Amino acid sequence: MNRGPSSLKDPSASQGRLRFFDAHNHLQDERFEGRWDELIDAARTVGVERMVVNGSCEEDWPVVAMLAERFPEVIPSFGYHPWYLEERTTAWRETLIRWLDRTPGAVVGEIGVDRWMLENPDRWRRYRQGAIPFAGKPPEWALQESMVISQLEIAAARGLPVTIHCLRAFGRLLEILENGPCPGPGFLLHSYGGPVELVDRFAELGGYFGFPGSALDPRRQRQQEVFHRIPIERLLVETDAPDQMPPELHRPSVLTGPSGSLLNVPANLPAIHAGLAELTGRSLESLTGQLAENFHRLFGSLRVPPRLQVGP
Ligand SMILES: [Zn+2]
Repeated sequence: MNRGPSSLKDPSASQGRLRFFDAHNHLQDERFEGRWDELIDAARTVGVERMVVNGSCEEDWPVVAMLAERFPEVIPSFGYHPWYLEERTTAWRETLIRWLDRTPGAVVGEIGVDRWMLENPDRWRRYRQGAIPFAGKPPEWALQESMVISQLEIAAARGLPVTIHCLRAFGRLLEILENGPCPGPGFLLHSYGGPVELVDRFAELGGYFGFPGSALDPRRQRQQEVFHRIPIERLLVETDAPDQMPPELHRPSVLTGPSGSLLNVPANLPAIHAGLAELTGRSLESLTGQLAENFHRLFGSLRVPPRLQVGP
């Protein structure tokens, strides 16, 4: 692909040859107000090749499917996020299966378990709030477990990789995966914040670990130390856009959302990679190459963007 004149002195020009993969985001999020052309254009310009766009409830699954149809970069992912379980309809399972079966290249996620919201219901309500006041109760633990197991079964039966959200429940999640069903192609522990002691056991089961840009914050030292210990072939980078804003040095691009809040975007991926390269003492080139390989191993063989099928 002709990317125009470049100069070796221009770091963005050398980054332009690298390919970046966003292992986890929520491009369908309503805070983006449908500015998808702008978001995808900016991501393309800096070399973002693919992104896993995670649905979180029945309401947003159609938007994820539409984005996958419109943009070859998008790998559509469908799942019930633990925060939204109370909104499920009696037909959630059939609806999920229908989206998975009829959307080319679909994977499963974001599913998961979350004890943090049960321990911090007021903070959770504030996060969920948006423009409309929200007074709901966090979904009970038993419901969370049964929903995560049902969705793992659906993924395992179809041989699909899964993206998992987990807050303050890593020990129990490990048991659930050890007892099965555990998806054959593997799973991403998105924005991994679990203990270092569990890394090898999750990895043995097929686990990958998502590094979010927000972990570059110098105050997140504990999480940074955990990422030092993760086998490099199980590491992935994610933006979790529009959330998990990287520190100022690592966010060349931001959007201003509806309430004036700043939104993280996939175009920040190269700057997040640069931060992680520095943190792990690797060159940007070797880190990026390894992460691309990891991404393809877990997600990438499923769908080839049409522009890559065109000859030189
Ligand atoms: Zn997410």
